[in-house]
Amino acid sequence: MPDPRRAIPRTDAVLGEPRIAKAAGSLGRDLVKAVVTDVQRAARAGEVAPADVVDTVLARLPASASSLRPVINATGVVVHTNLGRAPLSAAALDALVAAGGATDVEFDLATGSRARRGRGALAALAAAVPDAGGVHVVNNNAAALLLCALALAPGREIVVSRGELVEIGDGFRLPDLLESAGSRLREVGTTNRTSVRDYAAALGPDTGFVLKVHPSNYRVTGFTSEATLGELAGLGVPLVADIGSGLLAPHPLLPAEPDAASALRAGATLVTASGDKLLGGPQAGLLLGDADVVERLRRHPAARALRVDKLTLAALEATLRGPEPPVQEALGAAVEHLRDRAETLVKALGTVDVRVVGSVSAVGGGGAPGVELPSVALSLPARYAAALRTGHPAVAGRVVKDRCLLDLRTVRPEEDAKLLEAVRRCG
Ligand SMILES: *Cc1c(COP(=O)(O)O)cnc(C)c1O
Repeated sequence: MPDPRRAIPRTDAVLGEPRIAKAAGSLGRDLVKAVVTDVQRAARAGEVAPADVVDTVLARLPASASSLRPVINATGVVVHTNLGRAPLSAAALDALVAAGGATDVEFDLATGSRARRGRGALAALAAAVPDAGGVHVVNNNAAALLLCALALAPGREIVVSRGELVEIGDGFRLPDLLESAGSRLREVGTTNRTSVRDYAAALGPDTGFVLKVHPSNYRVTGFTSEATLGELAGLGVPLVADIGSGLLAPHPLLPAEPDAASALRAGATLVTASGDKLLGGPQAGLLLGDADVVERLRRHPAARALRVDKLTLAALEATLRGPEPPVQEALGAAVEHLRDRAETLVKALGTVDVRVVGSVSAVGGGGAPGVELPSVALSLPARYAAALRTGHPAVAGRVVKDRCLLDLRTVRPEEDAKLLEAVRRCG
Protein backbone atom coordinates (compact mmCIF):
# COMPACT_ATOMS: atom_id res chain seq x y z
CA MET A 1 0.00 0.00 0.00
CA PRO A 2 1.48 3.38 -0.93
CA ASP A 3 2.48 5.66 1.93
CA PRO A 4 -0.39 8.24 2.23
CA ARG A 5 2.20 10.88 3.13
CA ARG A 6 3.32 10.78 -0.49
CA ALA A 7 -0.04 12.30 -1.36
CA ILE A 8 0.71 15.44 0.66
CA PRO A 9 0.92 18.28 -1.90
CA ARG A 10 4.31 19.91 -2.30
CA THR A 11 4.92 23.47 -1.13
CA ASP A 12 5.07 24.91 -4.64
CA ALA A 13 1.84 23.22 -5.59
CA VAL A 14 0.03 24.57 -2.51
CA LEU A 15 1.41 28.08 -3.02
CA GLY A 16 0.36 27.91 -6.66
CA GLU A 17 -3.27 27.08 -5.84
CA PRO A 18 -5.20 30.19 -7.03
CA ARG A 19 -6.88 31.04 -3.71
CA ILE A 20 -3.62 30.61 -1.80
CA ALA A 21 -1.66 32.58 -4.40
CA LYS A 22 -4.20 35.40 -4.00
CA ALA A 23 -3.80 35.32 -0.21
CA ALA A 24 -0.01 35.48 -0.64
CA GLY A 25 -0.55 38.64 -2.67
CA SER A 26 -2.21 40.40 0.26
CA LEU A 27 -0.53 38.71 3.24
CA GLY A 28 2.97 38.19 1.86
CA ARG A 29 4.53 34.98 0.58
CA ASP A 30 6.63 34.30 3.70
CA LEU A 31 3.65 34.47 6.04
CA VAL A 32 1.58 32.16 3.83
CA LYS A 33 4.49 29.78 3.32
CA ALA A 34 4.95 29.45 7.08
CA VAL A 35 1.31 28.35 7.40
CA VAL A 36 1.74 25.89 4.50
CA THR A 37 4.79 24.36 6.18
CA ASP A 38 2.87 23.98 9.45
CA VAL A 39 -0.06 22.26 7.75
CA GLN A 40 2.25 19.93 5.78
CA ARG A 41 3.88 18.96 9.07
CA ALA A 42 0.43 18.28 10.55
CA ALA A 43 -0.38 16.16 7.48
CA ARG A 44 2.81 14.12 7.90
CA ALA A 45 1.83 13.54 11.52
CA GLY A 46 -1.52 12.23 10.32
CA GLU A 47 -3.50 15.11 11.85
CA VAL A 48 -4.66 16.50 8.48
CA ALA A 49 -5.69 14.39 5.48
CA PRO A 50 -3.51 15.08 2.42
CA ALA A 51 -6.62 16.06 0.45
CA ASP A 52 -7.48 18.67 3.09
CA VAL A 53 -4.13 20.46 3.09
CA VAL A 54 -5.22 23.38 0.87
CA ASP A 55 -8.48 23.97 2.74
CA THR A 56 -6.73 23.74 6.09
CA VAL A 57 -4.14 26.30 4.97
CA LEU A 58 -6.94 28.62 3.84
CA ALA A 59 -8.73 28.22 7.17
CA ARG A 60 -5.57 28.94 9.15
CA LEU A 61 -4.46 32.04 7.25
CA PRO A 62 -4.77 35.19 9.35
CA ALA A 63 -7.14 37.93 8.21
CA SER A 64 -4.34 40.48 7.91
CA ALA A 65 -0.56 40.66 7.87
CA SER A 66 -0.63 42.30 11.31
CA SER A 67 -1.20 40.14 14.36
CA LEU A 68 -3.40 42.87 15.91
CA ARG A 69 -7.02 41.77 15.77
CA PRO A 70 -10.18 43.83 15.88
CA VAL A 71 -12.01 43.57 19.21
CA ILE A 72 -15.56 44.57 20.02
CA ASN A 73 -15.30 46.43 23.31
CA ALA A 74 -18.23 45.22 25.42
CA THR A 75 -16.41 45.83 28.71
CA GLY A 76 -18.31 48.99 29.57
CA VAL A 77 -15.00 50.84 29.95
CA VAL A 78 -15.18 53.62 27.38
CA VAL A 79 -11.46 54.38 27.10
CA HIS A 80 -9.91 50.94 27.63
CA THR A 81 -6.12 51.07 27.83
CA ASN A 82 -5.61 47.38 27.05
CA LEU A 83 -7.85 47.69 24.00
CA GLY A 84 -5.87 50.61 22.59
CA ARG A 85 -7.77 53.46 24.25
CA ALA A 86 -9.97 55.53 21.89
CA PRO A 87 -11.40 53.75 18.84
CA LEU A 88 -11.14 56.10 15.86
CA SER A 89 -14.09 57.59 13.99
CA ALA A 90 -14.82 56.49 10.42
CA ALA A 91 -13.60 59.91 9.29
CA ALA A 92 -10.28 59.42 11.09
CA LEU A 93 -9.91 55.91 9.63
CA ASP A 94 -10.51 57.26 6.11
CA ALA A 95 -7.91 59.96 6.73
CA LEU A 96 -5.42 57.32 7.91
CA VAL A 97 -5.86 55.31 4.75
CA ALA A 98 -5.52 58.39 2.53
CA ALA A 99 -2.36 59.49 4.35
CA GLY A 100 -0.89 55.98 4.27
CA GLY A 101 0.53 56.51 0.80
CA ALA A 102 2.51 59.48 -0.41
CA THR A 103 0.79 62.57 0.97
CA ASP A 104 1.34 66.33 1.20
CA VAL A 105 2.17 66.31 4.90
CA GLU A 106 5.16 68.63 4.33
CA PHE A 107 4.49 69.81 0.80
CA ASP A 108 2.46 72.63 -0.71
CA LEU A 109 0.81 71.23 -3.81
CA ALA A 110 -0.13 74.74 -5.06
CA THR A 111 3.42 76.10 -5.11
CA GLY A 112 5.38 72.86 -5.28
CA SER A 113 7.55 73.83 -2.30
CA ARG A 114 8.10 72.56 1.22
CA ALA A 115 5.34 73.41 3.69
CA ARG A 116 4.94 73.28 7.46
CA ARG A 117 4.55 69.67 8.57
CA GLY A 118 1.07 68.82 9.76
CA ARG A 119 -0.28 72.33 9.23
CA GLY A 120 -3.84 71.06 8.73
CA ALA A 121 -3.91 69.22 12.06
CA LEU A 122 -2.29 72.16 13.86
CA ALA A 123 -4.80 74.59 12.35
CA ALA A 124 -7.67 72.32 13.41
CA LEU A 125 -6.32 72.16 16.96
CA ALA A 126 -5.83 75.93 17.09
CA ALA A 127 -9.37 76.46 15.79
CA ALA A 128 -10.76 74.08 18.42
CA VAL A 129 -9.04 76.00 21.25
CA PRO A 130 -9.04 79.71 20.35
CA ASP A 131 -7.55 80.55 23.76
CA ALA A 132 -4.28 78.90 22.74
CA GLY A 133 -1.76 81.26 21.17
CA GLY A 134 0.30 78.33 19.94
CA VAL A 135 -0.21 74.58 19.50
CA HIS A 136 2.11 71.63 18.99
CA VAL A 137 1.61 67.86 18.77
CA VAL A 138 4.00 65.18 20.01
CA ASN A 139 3.90 61.41 20.44
CA ASN A 140 1.83 61.29 23.64
CA ASN A 141 1.18 63.26 26.81
CA ALA A 142 4.26 61.78 28.46
CA ALA A 143 6.32 63.17 25.56
CA ALA A 144 4.61 66.55 25.97
CA LEU A 145 5.64 66.67 29.65
CA LEU A 146 9.14 65.47 28.83
CA LEU A 147 9.51 68.27 26.29
CA CYS A 148 8.29 70.84 28.85
CA ALA A 149 10.92 69.62 31.32
CA LEU A 150 13.70 69.56 28.71
CA ALA A 151 12.93 73.01 27.35
CA LEU A 152 11.70 74.89 30.44
CA ALA A 153 13.47 73.27 33.40
CA PRO A 154 16.77 71.64 32.34
CA GLY A 155 18.80 71.17 35.53
CA ARG A 156 16.19 73.23 37.34
CA GLU A 157 13.21 72.65 39.58
CA ILE A 158 9.67 71.69 38.73
CA VAL A 159 7.40 72.62 41.62
CA VAL A 160 4.58 70.12 42.07
CA SER A 161 2.16 69.04 44.79
CA ARG A 162 2.86 65.77 46.65
CA GLY A 163 -0.71 64.75 45.92
CA GLU A 164 -0.10 64.85 42.17
CA LEU A 165 3.00 62.67 41.70
CA VAL A 166 1.09 60.06 39.78
CA GLU A 167 1.90 56.72 38.22
CA ILE A 168 0.56 56.79 34.66
CA GLY A 169 0.39 53.02 34.22
CA ASP A 170 2.55 49.96 33.55
CA GLY A 171 4.93 51.12 36.29
CA PHE A 172 5.75 54.46 34.64
CA ARG A 173 5.70 57.38 37.05
CA LEU A 174 5.51 61.07 36.29
CA PRO A 175 8.29 62.10 38.72
CA ASP A 176 10.72 59.61 37.12
CA LEU A 177 9.79 60.86 33.66
CA LEU A 178 10.51 64.49 34.59
CA GLU A 179 13.75 63.62 36.40
CA SER A 180 14.92 61.66 33.36
CA ALA A 181 14.92 65.00 31.54
CA GLY A 182 17.42 66.37 34.06
CA SER A 183 14.92 68.38 36.08
CA ARG A 184 14.60 68.21 39.85
CA LEU A 185 11.21 67.81 41.45
CA ARG A 186 10.38 70.19 44.25
CA GLU A 187 7.51 68.56 46.08
CA VAL A 188 5.23 70.83 48.04
CA GLY A 189 2.25 70.35 50.36
CA THR A 190 0.95 66.99 51.53
CA THR A 191 -0.84 64.09 49.88
CA ASN A 192 -4.27 65.47 50.68
CA ARG A 193 -3.77 69.22 51.05
CA THR A 194 -1.65 71.74 49.20
CA SER A 195 -2.15 75.51 49.21
CA VAL A 196 -0.86 78.26 46.97
CA ARG A 197 1.37 79.35 49.89
CA ASP A 198 3.17 76.00 49.73
CA TYR A 199 4.02 76.66 46.09
CA ALA A 200 5.00 80.28 46.73
CA ALA A 201 7.40 79.27 49.51
CA ALA A 202 9.19 76.86 47.16
CA LEU A 203 9.82 79.31 44.34
CA GLY A 204 13.31 80.64 43.75
CA PRO A 205 15.97 81.29 41.12
CA ASP A 206 16.08 77.56 40.31
CA THR A 207 12.39 77.28 39.51
CA GLY A 208 11.70 76.15 35.94
CA PHE A 209 7.96 75.95 36.17
CA VAL A 210 5.03 75.02 38.38
CA LEU A 211 3.27 71.82 37.31
CA LYS A 212 -0.35 71.03 38.08
CA VAL A 213 -1.37 67.43 37.28
CA HIS A 214 -4.95 66.26 37.05
CA PRO A 215 -5.46 62.95 38.84
CA SER A 216 -7.04 61.10 35.92
CA ASN A 217 -7.02 57.62 37.36
CA TYR A 218 -7.69 58.11 41.08
CA ARG A 219 -9.48 60.39 43.51
CA VAL A 220 -8.45 61.82 46.83
CA THR A 221 -11.55 62.40 48.91
CA GLY A 222 -12.25 63.61 52.42
CA PHE A 223 -10.13 66.31 54.07
CA THR A 224 -8.58 67.69 50.89
CA SER A 225 -7.72 70.97 49.26
CA GLU A 226 -5.64 72.09 46.34
CA ALA A 227 -4.54 75.35 44.80
CA THR A 228 -6.48 76.41 41.73
CA LEU A 229 -4.85 77.20 38.39
CA GLY A 230 -6.01 80.79 38.86
CA GLU A 231 -4.10 81.09 42.14
CA LEU A 232 -0.99 79.45 40.71
CA ALA A 233 -1.05 81.66 37.63
CA GLY A 234 -0.43 84.64 39.89
CA LEU A 235 2.93 83.30 41.11
CA GLY A 236 4.89 84.85 38.25
CA VAL A 237 6.51 81.65 36.91
CA PRO A 238 5.40 79.49 33.96
CA LEU A 239 2.48 77.24 34.87
CA VAL A 240 2.07 73.91 33.07
CA ALA A 241 -1.30 72.16 33.49
CA ASP A 242 -1.39 68.45 32.64
CA ILE A 243 -5.13 67.95 32.18
CA GLY A 244 -4.70 64.31 31.09
CA SER A 245 -7.89 63.42 29.29
CA GLY A 246 -7.76 65.87 26.38
CA LEU A 247 -11.15 67.54 26.69
CA LEU A 248 -10.74 70.77 24.75
CA ALA A 249 -13.84 72.44 26.19
CA PRO A 250 -16.07 71.65 29.20
CA HIS A 251 -18.12 68.44 28.81
CA PRO A 252 -21.70 68.60 30.10
CA LEU A 253 -21.65 65.00 31.39
CA LEU A 254 -18.25 65.30 33.06
CA PRO A 255 -18.38 68.56 35.02
CA ALA A 256 -15.39 67.67 37.23
CA GLU A 257 -13.11 66.89 34.29
CA PRO A 258 -10.67 69.69 33.39
CA ASP A 259 -10.50 71.04 29.84
CA ALA A 260 -7.91 72.93 27.84
CA ALA A 261 -9.90 76.11 27.19
CA SER A 262 -10.80 76.61 30.87
CA ALA A 263 -7.23 75.87 32.00
CA LEU A 264 -5.83 78.48 29.60
CA ARG A 265 -8.43 81.02 30.63
CA ALA A 266 -7.53 80.40 34.26
CA GLY A 267 -3.99 81.42 33.42
CA ALA A 268 -2.03 78.26 32.55
CA THR A 269 0.99 79.03 30.37
CA LEU A 270 0.78 75.62 28.76
CA VAL A 271 -1.70 72.77 28.77
CA THR A 272 -0.66 69.19 28.02
CA ALA A 273 -3.09 66.38 27.22
CA SER A 274 -3.48 63.00 25.51
CA GLY A 275 -5.12 62.67 22.10
CA ASP A 276 -6.49 59.17 22.62
CA LYS A 277 -8.51 59.54 25.81
CA LEU A 278 -11.66 61.67 25.98
CA LEU A 279 -10.78 63.58 22.83
CA GLY A 280 -11.33 60.28 21.04
CA GLY A 281 -8.46 60.54 18.57
CA PRO A 282 -5.13 58.85 17.86
CA GLN A 283 -2.34 58.52 20.40
CA ALA A 284 -0.79 61.96 20.61
CA GLY A 285 0.37 64.57 23.10
CA LEU A 286 -1.23 67.98 22.73
CA LEU A 287 0.60 71.12 23.79
CA LEU A 288 -1.43 74.33 23.83
CA GLY A 289 -0.70 77.77 25.20
CA ASP A 290 1.58 80.77 25.07
CA ALA A 291 2.83 81.20 21.49
CA ASP A 292 6.46 81.98 22.42
CA VAL A 293 6.71 79.10 24.87
CA VAL A 294 5.19 76.66 22.37
CA GLU A 295 7.71 77.87 19.78
CA ARG A 296 10.57 77.20 22.23
CA LEU A 297 9.32 73.64 22.69
CA ARG A 298 8.87 73.16 18.97
CA ARG A 299 12.47 74.23 18.26
CA HIS A 300 14.06 72.19 21.06
CA PRO A 301 16.36 69.49 19.60
CA ALA A 302 14.40 66.75 21.37
CA ALA A 303 11.20 67.80 19.61
CA ARG A 304 12.43 65.93 16.55
CA ALA A 305 12.57 62.70 18.53
CA LEU A 306 9.06 63.18 19.87
CA ARG A 307 7.31 64.20 16.67
CA VAL A 308 4.28 62.37 15.34
CA ASP A 309 3.97 60.65 12.01
CA LYS A 310 1.68 61.55 9.14
CA LEU A 311 -0.89 58.91 10.19
CA THR A 312 -1.33 60.54 13.58
CA LEU A 313 -1.62 64.00 12.04
CA ALA A 314 -4.23 62.75 9.57
CA ALA A 315 -6.32 60.99 12.22
CA LEU A 316 -6.05 63.90 14.66
CA GLU A 317 -7.21 66.47 12.11
CA ALA A 318 -10.16 64.29 11.08
CA THR A 319 -11.07 63.72 14.74
CA LEU A 320 -11.05 67.47 15.37
CA ARG A 321 -12.88 68.48 12.20
CA GLY A 322 -15.06 65.42 11.58
CA PRO A 323 -18.20 64.04 13.23
CA GLU A 324 -18.36 63.11 16.90
CA PRO A 325 -15.85 60.28 17.57
CA PRO A 326 -16.94 56.95 19.13
CA VAL A 327 -15.73 57.94 22.62
CA GLN A 328 -18.09 60.92 22.66
CA GLU A 329 -20.92 58.84 21.22
CA ALA A 330 -20.42 56.20 23.91
CA LEU A 331 -20.39 58.83 26.67
CA GLY A 332 -23.55 60.45 25.38
CA ALA A 333 -25.63 57.37 24.46
CA ALA A 334 -29.06 57.43 26.13
CA VAL A 335 -29.87 54.46 28.37
CA GLU A 336 -33.28 53.95 26.67
CA HIS A 337 -31.52 53.66 23.36
CA LEU A 338 -29.08 51.09 24.78
CA ARG A 339 -32.05 49.14 26.19
CA ASP A 340 -33.79 49.11 22.79
CA ARG A 341 -30.67 47.72 21.16
CA ALA A 342 -30.28 45.11 23.91
CA GLU A 343 -33.89 43.96 23.53
CA THR A 344 -33.52 43.68 19.76
CA LEU A 345 -30.42 41.54 20.23
CA VAL A 346 -32.06 39.29 22.82
CA LYS A 347 -35.04 38.73 20.54
CA ALA A 348 -32.74 37.84 17.66
CA LEU A 349 -30.83 35.38 19.84
CA GLY A 350 -34.03 33.48 20.57
CA THR A 351 -33.15 30.29 22.41
CA VAL A 352 -29.83 31.34 23.94
CA ASP A 353 -29.81 31.85 27.74
CA VAL A 354 -29.56 35.60 27.52
CA ARG A 355 -31.30 38.49 29.26
CA VAL A 356 -31.12 42.26 29.44
CA VAL A 357 -29.70 43.67 32.67
CA GLY A 358 -28.81 47.09 34.00
CA SER A 359 -25.11 47.85 34.10
CA VAL A 360 -22.68 50.60 35.06
CA SER A 361 -20.06 51.80 32.60
CA ALA A 362 -16.94 53.76 33.44
CA VAL A 363 -14.88 56.29 31.53
CA GLY A 364 -11.73 54.27 32.27
CA GLY A 365 -8.04 55.14 32.33
CA GLY A 366 -8.95 58.08 30.15
CA GLY A 367 -10.22 60.19 32.99
CA ALA A 368 -13.19 61.03 35.16
CA PRO A 369 -12.37 58.57 37.98
CA GLY A 370 -15.42 57.66 40.01
CA VAL A 371 -17.90 58.73 37.34
CA GLU A 372 -20.53 56.03 36.88
CA LEU A 373 -22.49 55.93 33.64
CA PRO A 374 -25.77 54.01 33.82
CA SER A 375 -25.85 51.40 31.07
CA VAL A 376 -27.46 48.21 29.76
CA ALA A 377 -25.84 44.83 29.16
CA LEU A 378 -26.60 41.43 27.71
CA SER A 379 -26.15 38.78 30.40
CA LEU A 380 -24.97 35.36 29.19
CA PRO A 381 -23.61 32.25 30.91
CA ALA A 382 -20.02 32.86 32.07
CA ARG A 383 -18.60 30.28 29.68
CA TYR A 384 -19.32 32.68 26.82
CA ALA A 385 -16.59 35.05 27.99
CA ALA A 386 -13.62 32.96 26.85
CA ALA A 387 -15.34 31.78 23.66
CA LEU A 388 -16.21 35.35 22.68
CA ARG A 389 -12.72 36.60 23.48
CA THR A 390 -11.08 34.07 21.18
CA GLY A 391 -13.57 34.41 18.30
CA HIS A 392 -13.33 36.44 15.10
CA PRO A 393 -13.93 39.28 15.69
CA ALA A 394 -12.97 38.96 19.34
CA VAL A 395 -15.47 40.30 21.87
CA ALA A 396 -14.30 41.50 25.29
CA GLY A 397 -16.97 41.51 28.01
CA ARG A 398 -16.71 41.14 31.77
CA VAL A 399 -17.64 38.29 34.09
CA VAL A 400 -19.74 39.17 37.13
CA LYS A 401 -21.08 36.43 39.42
CA ASP A 402 -21.13 33.57 36.90
CA ARG A 403 -22.52 35.71 34.12
CA CYS A 404 -20.75 37.18 31.13
CA LEU A 405 -21.92 40.78 30.70
CA LEU A 406 -21.72 42.53 27.35
CA ASP A 407 -22.14 46.23 28.06
CA LEU A 408 -23.68 48.00 25.08
CA ARG A 409 -22.51 51.52 25.95
CA THR A 410 -19.05 50.74 24.59
CA VAL A 411 -20.31 48.70 21.62
CA ARG A 412 -20.95 50.90 18.61
CA PRO A 413 -24.47 50.50 17.17
CA GLU A 414 -22.95 49.54 13.81
CA GLU A 415 -21.22 46.61 15.58
CA ASP A 416 -24.49 45.07 16.84
CA ALA A 417 -24.81 42.72 13.85
CA LYS A 418 -21.27 41.41 14.38
CA LEU A 419 -21.89 41.04 18.10
CA LEU A 420 -25.03 39.01 17.38
CA GLU A 421 -23.09 36.76 14.99
CA ALA A 422 -20.31 36.29 17.55
CA VAL A 423 -22.73 35.27 20.33
CA ARG A 424 -24.55 32.88 17.99
CA ARG A 425 -21.30 31.20 17.02
CA CYS A 426 -20.50 30.53 20.68
CA GLY A 427 -23.95 29.10 21.42
C1 LIG B 1 -2.88 59.57 30.76
C2 LIG B 1 -2.13 60.65 31.46
C3 LIG B 1 -0.78 60.87 31.20
C4 LIG B 1 -0.04 60.05 30.19
O1 LIG B 1 -0.49 60.33 28.91
P1 LIG B 1 -0.04 59.45 27.65
O2 LIG B 1 -0.73 60.10 26.51
O3 LIG B 1 -0.48 58.06 27.94
O4 LIG B 1 1.44 59.55 27.57
C5 LIG B 1 -0.15 61.89 31.86
N1 LIG B 1 -0.80 62.65 32.75
C6 LIG B 1 -2.09 62.47 33.04
C7 LIG B 1 -2.76 63.34 34.04
C8 LIG B 1 -2.81 61.46 32.41
O5 LIG B 1 -4.10 61.28 32.69
